[in-house]
Amino acid sequence: MAAAETDRDAPSALCSEFLNFSAKDTAAKWLQVSNLPKEVYQHLACYVPKIYCLGPNLNPQNEDLLAQLLLQGPLEWYLCGEEPSVGLAKLEQDNQPSQLCGHVFKVGEPTYSCRECAADPTCVLCMQCFLGSVHKEHRYRMTTSGGGGFCDCGDTEAWKKGPYCQKHEPNISDCSQKDPLANLSAEMIARTYNVFAIILKYAVDMLTWDKEDELPEGLEPPARGDTYYCMLFNDEVHTYEQVIYTLQKAVNCTQKEAVSFATTVDRDGRKSVRFGDFQFCEQAKSVIVRNTSRQTKPLRVQVMHSSIVAHQCFALKALNWLGQIIRYSDALRRILCQVGLQRGPEGENSSLVDTLMLCDSKMWKGARNVYHQLFMSSLLMDPKYKKLFAIQFARNYERLQSDYVKDDHDREFSVTDLSVQMFTVPSLARMLITEENLMTTIIRTFVDHLRHRDLQGRFQFERYTAQQAFKFRRVQSLIGDLKYVLISRPTEWGDQLREKYLEGFDAFSELLKCMQGMDPVVRQVGQHIEMEPEWEAAFTLQMKLTHIISMMQEWCASDERVLIEAYKKCLIALTHCHSGFTDGEQPITLSMCGHSVDTIRYCVSQEKVSIHLPVSRLLAGLHALLSKTEAAYRFPEQLPMSELSPPMLIEHPLRCLVLCAQVHAGMWRRNGFSLVNQIYYYHNVKCRVEMFDKDLIMLQAGASMMDPNHFLMIVLSRFELYHIFSSADCRKRYGRENANKDVVQQNNTLIEEMLHLVIMIVGERYTAGVGQVESSDEIRREIVHQLCIRPMAHSELVKALPENENKETGMERVIDSVALFKKPGVTGRGLYKLRPECAKMFNLYFHHYSRADQSKAEEAQRKIKRQNGEDSVLPPPVLPRFCPLFASLVNMLQCDVLLGILGAVLQWAMEPSGGHWSESMLQRVLHLIGMGLVEEQQHLISSAEDNETNFNFTLKISRPGEAPANTPSILALLETLQNAPHLEVHKDMIRWILKIVAAIKTTRECTASAPPSDSSGHSQEETVRDKDKAERKRKAEMARLRREKIMAQMSEMQRHFINENKELFQQSLDELDPSTSSSLEHSPSSCDSVLVCVGPRRWRAGGSERRQVVTCILCQEEQEIRADGKAMVLAAFVQRSTVMSKNRKRPPHNPDKYDPLFMHPDLSFGTHTGSCGHIMHSHCWQRYFEAVQAKEQRRQQRLRVHTSYDVENGEFLCPLCECLSNTVIPLLPLTKTSCSSEQPDLSQWLNITSQQMKALISAHRKSKANSAEGVDDTDGVNSYPPPDGFKLDHTPNNPYSSTIKEMLTTFGTATYKVGLKVHPNEQDPRVPIMCWGSCAYTIQSIEKLLVDEEKPLFGSLPCRQDDCLSSLTRFGSACWTASSHSTVQNHFIRLLAALVPDPRVENTPCILDIDMFHLLVSLVLSYPAVHCLDSSGLSEDTAQLHFLHLVTVAHIVQILLTSVPEEMRMEQESGGAEREEEERVCMLYNTLRAHLSSGLREVSSGWHLWHCVKAGILPYLRATALFFHYLNGAPAPPEIHALGVGEWEALCGYLCLPSNLLQLYYNNQELMGTLLQGWCAHPGVLQGLQSSSALIRLPRESNHLIDLPCDYSALINQASSFTCPKSGGDKSRAPTLCLVCGTMLCSQSYCCQTELEGEDVGACTAHTFACGAGVGIFLRVRESQVLFLAGKTKGCFYAPPYLDDYGETDQGLRRGNPLHLCQERYRKIQKLWRQHSITEEIGHAQEANQTLVGIDWQHL
Ligand SMILES: [Zn+2]
Ligand SMILES: [Zn+2]
Ligand SMILES: [Zn+2]
Ligand SMILES: [Zn+2]
Ligand SMILES: [Zn+2]
Ligand SMILES: [Zn+2]
Ligand SMILES: [Zn+2]
Repeated sequence: MAAAETDRDAPSALCSEFLNFSAKDTAAKWLQVSNLPKEVYQHLACYVPKIYCLGPNLNPQNEDLLAQLLLQGPLEWYLCGEEPSVGLAKLEQDNQPSQLCGHVFKVGEPTYSCRECAADPTCVLCMQCFLGSVHKEHRYRMTTSGGGGFCDCGDTEAWKKGPYCQKHEPNISDCSQKDPLANLSAEMIARTYNVFAIILKYAVDMLTWDKEDELPEGLEPPARGDTYYCMLFNDEVHTYEQVIYTLQKAVNCTQKEAVSFATTVDRDGRKSVRFGDFQFCEQAKSVIVRNTSRQTKPLRVQVMHSSIVAHQCFALKALNWLGQIIRYSDALRRILCQVGLQRGPEGENSSLVDTLMLCDSKMWKGARNVYHQLFMSSLLMDPKYKKLFAIQFARNYERLQSDYVKDDHDREFSVTDLSVQMFTVPSLARMLITEENLMTTIIRTFVDHLRHRDLQGRFQFERYTAQQAFKFRRVQSLIGDLKYVLISRPTEWGDQLREKYLEGFDAFSELLKCMQGMDPVVRQVGQHIEMEPEWEAAFTLQMKLTHIISMMQEWCASDERVLIEAYKKCLIALTHCHSGFTDGEQPITLSMCGHSVDTIRYCVSQEKVSIHLPVSRLLAGLHALLSKTEAAYRFPEQLPMSELSPPMLIEHPLRCLVLCAQVHAGMWRRNGFSLVNQIYYYHNVKCRVEMFDKDLIMLQAGASMMDPNHFLMIVLSRFELYHIFSSADCRKRYGRENANKDVVQQNNTLIEEMLHLVIMIVGERYTAGVGQVESSDEIRREIVHQLCIRPMAHSELVKALPENENKETGMERVIDSVALFKKPGVTGRGLYKLRPECAKMFNLYFHHYSRADQSKAEEAQRKIKRQNGEDSVLPPPVLPRFCPLFASLVNMLQCDVLLGILGAVLQWAMEPSGGHWSESMLQRVLHLIGMGLVEEQQHLISSAEDNETNFNFTLKISRPGEAPANTPSILALLETLQNAPHLEVHKDMIRWILKIVAAIKTTRECTASAPPSDSSGHSQEETVRDKDKAERKRKAEMARLRREKIMAQMSEMQRHFINENKELFQQSLDELDPSTSSSLEHSPSSCDSVLVCVGPRRWRAGGSERRQVVTCILCQEEQEIRADGKAMVLAAFVQRSTVMSKNRKRPPHNPDKYDPLFMHPDLSFGTHTGSCGHIMHSHCWQRYFEAVQAKEQRRQQRLRVHTSYDVENGEFLCPLCECLSNTVIPLLPLTKTSCSSEQPDLSQWLNITSQQMKALISAHRKSKANSAEGVDDTDGVNSYPPPDGFKLDHTPNNPYSSTIKEMLTTFGTATYKVGLKVHPNEQDPRVPIMCWGSCAYTIQSIEKLLVDEEKPLFGSLPCRQDDCLSSLTRFGSACWTASSHSTVQNHFIRLLAALVPDPRVENTPCILDIDMFHLLVSLVLSYPAVHCLDSSGLSEDTAQLHFLHLVTVAHIVQILLTSVPEEMRMEQESGGAEREEEERVCMLYNTLRAHLSSGLREVSSGWHLWHCVKAGILPYLRATALFFHYLNGAPAPPEIHALGVGEWEALCGYLCLPSNLLQLYYNNQELMGTLLQGWCAHPGVLQGLQSSSALIRLPRESNHLIDLPCDYSALINQASSFTCPKSGGDKSRAPTLCLVCGTMLCSQSYCCQTELEGEDVGACTAHTFACGAGVGIFLRVRESQVLFLAGKTKGCFYAPPYLDDYGETDQGLRRGNPLHLCQERYRKIQKLWRQHSITEEIGHAQEANQTLVGIDWQHL
């Protein structure tokens, strides 16, 4: 800060004192004294206040210099005992560094974790280590660091494999075991110890010092001044704006200063805002406090004595110094650790390290950062002391966490954040559990902080205040710590670990007990609930604990003794919970189908029910784990399972499932959205593993221990369906029950849900322990069912699968066995498709399907089956066998109660009348019957081996029903239903069932020896019929789709313009047809002359060929293009462009002064015109545009909605294709021309023309003089009489109708306005120039594009570009009529003078500074303004040809001057076929050298020169051919329609040029020689040649977007070292790369905003104005996102060209898969840019996604 210098001129006395100071002597003195601490303190007391804090502003450079000299110097001398630089170097040399990398990450730096080898996801490598490690060949994850943390390379515990990179590979002799202190002398150790002890103590004392006006003993300064600081501290409560506002008020500073104060406070945690006497500071303090205390607690401000601040500054410095010193030697580091952890005088936990930790929350941010950094580089880097530190950390844990919860700083600024560095080390974690009981401590601390409980002791989050909610969020970090501790499971258990783990388990079940039954809900009847109850806190807790619960179970599973003990503890906990419930005490007895059971009376719909049952669910998990153990197979009776009765086990999970069913049935509508949300999360992939899934397991466990009939009766009772199925005549439901329709509907849904539940209980066997499966089977099945819905991308699958605590789904292990990968194209993403053979695993009632998933999957699977010509039935799949503990579940399928239910539903289904049963109900019943049959088949197969089965489902369903007696059997019912006409959709399934029944019967009859028949076989006839049906359906479907598409197109078109132009659309819209131009001009010519496009011999269109008829897209009327007819216009978009620029450093022109007549060959700024090719009447377009304007005005009045187009700037969307446009180009007919036979040759013609010019110039001067003075001053001006037939006063007829004239002005003005960025002014003389320029530039850019895409010059352009170029060129030839003729004549005079030097014309550029194609186009297009005065019979065609010849020669000369290479290559010296050209070009070159000897080197290779000329001039010839083709309408010869040889000759022929272009020179050598001399005489030529770096080489190469690295992390790395260019080395938050020029920018940040045209804009927008003339293409590196910008208001995001191995982009870098450059996609972006389609792309994106319109693009 500049102010500092004047404020503090250090007294000269002090200066001399400083100069005489000797660090060496001081250190020597210290070596002698007995009380070193006192001595050092005195030194500090004396010097620190003299160096630091001498004025209002701090001056870090000066202070650091002095501190180094006066303070650190003596310490280092003392420590080393010699010159510090020598001593430290020795230390470094003797050091044997440990193998840890320890690289500390910067914000935004890439980090890598191996998904195969990392112990947990927090283990990361830095880029250097990663690239040198084995993991780069593994599956890895890449993320960007949030700052802090360090590289784990070299930590053997962090990696299962490959812990070292090449660089950190340990040497042969493992030196890490040796004590590093062994290398140091005893004196050195002692001295180091002394210094470290004193300095660390000093720093700790000062940083934890809380008195404002008093210093610690021994530090009182000799002379105490009377200066104070008003110190402002950071908090996380007040906003930036509040602080800035308050400061402006309190200390009278400018806004800029206030911003700077606030920034420092935010970064460092505190900042002095005032310096002076006590009173002065106190005053500021009170203003700040008063101003910030209104709503919240005030900002913290302290008035502190300056000497205290000074010592605190030095204390920070001292800690930094310690950090630096210990880098020289591991031994010093170890000594520092020792000093820090040494127990202080107050006994336990009183070491300096303890003191710092315990004061953490009292310190300001800057101090915390410094000492945390020191801990990281010392304690955490030394294996021995890391352990000791971890113990201290664990002992203080509770205190630290409590402090943290009360503190308001983010976790990254808290010492508690260091937990990850210790708890994730498995050996440390295990040690802390066993020795410090860490697990219990963490859980207890967590529970202690959640104090809000209800009467039963459960958590209650209702009516949480904001502050409590804040605290709740902070407490959650404890769960993170617990996760770290548990993340690696023990491989061996000791007794102590068992004991401590189980103690922790106890604490954990206490925690879960507080959650069991929390947030209960009661069904709301009558009124809707008044207020949505709080539910998110409880779910947050559940979600955060999900992984912990899973990990607890996995720990248990790794030791059988622990598992059994934990199971017992969990049972006890559940028993406790049950004793707390008071509902449903009344016992009742249920009976059905001859069975009866006792239960309690309880209705979910009437009493309290909770979705939170973590204790039950933990027990369910442990039960499944027990079932996997040896004990479960051998001694199930020894398992502790009888403590709770099975009905008690299932009670609460069942209630929860019933609640879901009832919500589904609409019974809980009045309870609002909170309940809907809870049910959603209950099933959601993030929660279901420890919620829904476990409830299902608990029901399976309970049911397996009960009589299935009893179980089902209880289920019916809880579903409140018991009365329906228990009544004696339940089968006659339809007749009896004609109650309320809603109730019937409700019950139907409940029956469906209940049947679904039964299907799941019997059918879900893919959990290890429930069924005989592996965990990979489970994940495989999940994937199969996801892919049964539709093919999915990798990321979609990941989202649908549960992740474990390491964020892994396990998908990679199995995906290839069930799916095929299909690569993406240029758009879209890679997809996994189900392997066809896996479709047989499909289960329609898969428990994780939502209803929507289920119906989509059903449809998709049926469709596939139909396409394969199969029966579309979807039978239940074959299932794995149950584990023994669950084996009895299969009996549920054949139990009496279930069969009763099935029979009843089938009986109801006999009646077609709707209402009393539903299709889904029947479908489920049929599915259950199918499951029974499949089960029986499986039993038959296996019984062939073990010869024993009592599962006989077919027998059971063949028996008649029991109640009422003698009702038909299920089988009989099915046989009847098979033919029921109302059950068409279920016929396939019924037929399938009957077939299986028959097959089973056959099998049984064949005495169990024959295998069951193939269930899929069916008769030929059926197949044919099905195929027929399928075909018919397919055709109908196609027809429907076609209809829909047409309708959609129709309504789309209507929506966008018909509504706004109602009056225009009276007639039918049916024939709206997008085909537009029916131009005839491209039809092969009937003329048999040679195809030449320019000159007197050129091809001329006959009358019919000239006639062109087009259709207006708005009114659909046809219209012929005529000069005197109604104007027809083409929607067009004009934009500035730098796409072809060869000089991006050229600053933008000043729009008011810029003279655009001559384009520089660097093409740095051009004006491009594009069109979608849609044609309208000019009046139709005007009406349309007015309607758009009116609508926009109305819209702005109503509300500020943005649109993708800027009406005020003349923008609109093409009414047909919605392409962004900002003007229209009028369509003009070909001009009629004829040619008289006799035409002058070049020199004659030049002669005539120069006479004409002379006459014109003098006439112009005369009229200028007249208008200036009003007097006819003829003196010397009128000395040139015009040549014959040249009438200066002639005013030609304007051939155009008024509407065409109007449109000529419209487009001309638009081009002028956009091209120069000025206000429209149709009178400006630059209007025609801009039009010619746009014509030339657009043709050049299209020519370039065709080369880049390797397409032939003619015949490959899309229609829209063809139409655009043709109308643009013809417009160019007519635009002079809309301007003042003398202006255009004047332009012509100046243009011609560039070729034919004319002393009367000033400021003519030299030929090196002219783009020749632009010159040619301007000459040709401006000439008519001169030609119209001529009546002597001179042909315009002749003039065009002469222009062409002149410019071509000039261009050859230009190329010869610019492209002579430094190194001559001598090959092909002898030349060949083109010998004549080579000789001639040599001669010409030598002529040039004769004129410019000093500027040109000698060249002897004619071949080479000719090669340069040919290559250099080709783009010009091609562009010229395009130009004259469109101007004169001459069809192109077929040779140019194809690529390849012969192009040169064809081009030259078409352009009426000799193929030896040098003939142009030598045929008129005399004339040309003079011109050549004139060109070379221009001083600019020599100048240009001498500064050859500025020369533009021809041909100009195409610009391409910058090269990007293949590996995305290289970009991240590049961006992480990028700092904001404006705020002195700060990291940029959004580093953004310009893909056009490669500049890195600091985007989206206040620091880099600049003012552009009076508005604040971000770095990107500002950059586009120089680099891309307003259009920009960027890569946002942190987001992995491409950004398109256009102007200040338009922008969109675009998919980045980086893909992961699964063919997906990762916008936002959320998934962390490695990304690689996809060249194809990058080329696509480049093509958009080269085609000038970026703005159009933005327009389409914004139309498609309205939210993009609202973004403030200019701030990026
Ligand atoms: Zn590293
Ligand atoms: Zn390494
Ligand atoms: Zn690995
Ligand atoms: Zn029209
Ligand atoms: Zn269009
Ligand atoms: Zn750029
Ligand atoms: Zn910046």
